[in-house]
Amino acid sequence: MSTTTHTIHNFSAGPCILPPSVLEQASAAVRELDGNGLSLIEISHRSKPFVAVMEEARDLVRSELNLPDHYEVLFLQGGASLGFLTTAMNFTPTDGSMDYAVTGTWAKKALKEARKMGAAQAITSSEDSGFNHIPELPGTSSASAVHITTNNTIYGTQYAGDPVVDKPIVADMSSDIFSRPIDIERYACIYAGAQKNMGPAGTVLYIYDKRQAGKTGRDLPSYLDLELHADKDSMFNTPPVFAIYTSMLTLRWLKGEGGVREMQQRNAAKAACIYGEIDRNPLFNGYAASGSRSVMNATFTAADDALTPLFLDACNAAGINGIKGHRSIGGFRASMYNALPLSSVEVLTDVMKEFERTHG
Ligand SMILES: *Cc1c(COP(=O)(O)O)cnc(C)c1O
Repeated sequence: MSTTTHTIHNFSAGPCILPPSVLEQASAAVRELDGNGLSLIEISHRSKPFVAVMEEARDLVRSELNLPDHYEVLFLQGGASLGFLTTAMNFTPTDGSMDYAVTGTWAKKALKEARKMGAAQAITSSEDSGFNHIPELPGTSSASAVHITTNNTIYGTQYAGDPVVDKPIVADMSSDIFSRPIDIERYACIYAGAQKNMGPAGTVLYIYDKRQAGKTGRDLPSYLDLELHADKDSMFNTPPVFAIYTSMLTLRWLKGEGGVREMQQRNAAKAACIYGEIDRNPLFNGYAASGSRSVMNATFTAADDALTPLFLDACNAAGINGIKGHRSIGGFRASMYNALPLSSVEVLTDVMKEFERTHG
């Protein structure tokens, strides 16, 4: 069998680039899981080999994020989109409410889902400025938790670190989980769709403080009850075995590469490379305000809109994929998840330099 290498520079926002070794091992497991004579996708999820996979995946999340024992780890389904509702249901008391920081499309959707279920309010929003920055989180309120989107995948903005607030945080970390260390005690719950920085689509990771769960007074539907899933060790029903296995492989890779601290350094180097060129090159403008720039998704536009399709052609010719900006803001977006090498970012900045030479 040929060895998997990346021949395309994959800047896609999600599903994302994965390490070649992970693709290699995941495809081998589809043929046969660890010498068991059965494929990963035909073996029982209750069998010893798959239970071991699930446990290793959960343990790797605990060790790589340094989670204290009172945090639970689950791999469920429904994506981050169902997480909007699930987190609201599990962390908003029937007689209480949740605050929302509206910093982009996903944050807005989270608030919309929460409102269908109970009391939820926007405490801050950057919508009037096209979600180009992360607004300050206001001080005190009577809500029991505040929901944030740590990295706004579409607009390319990101909280600079773990925010300091007077209440527990519920965070959608879909597009920056495992990109840097986190101060876990600030969070009541973190959720993240796997397909941005962890694995393939099909599973969503939940991390939550067991001491803060189950206090809402709600009678939750079974699948939306995090504590029920925890009682069943994340095996309440048939789990998405391929997505969990491949996420586990990515976490093994992450550990082997030096963990989230190493990823933080690599991601900072990639971000410095792209933003340096965006700021230097007169043909391009950064989209996000400088203090709010995302390390994961760099958004930028052409100074002259007529150049947009020409630059996309130039990227295409250089084997650069997924650089077109989200339809809601246009321009370009370079997503630089953990598995994207710095060399791919250098290919992109070389194309930008050459574009300046030929079109400036
Ligand atoms: C992609 C994304 C989502 C939606 O994830 P699904 O798993 O497709 O539901 C939610 N939040 C953020 C920040 C995202 O980037």
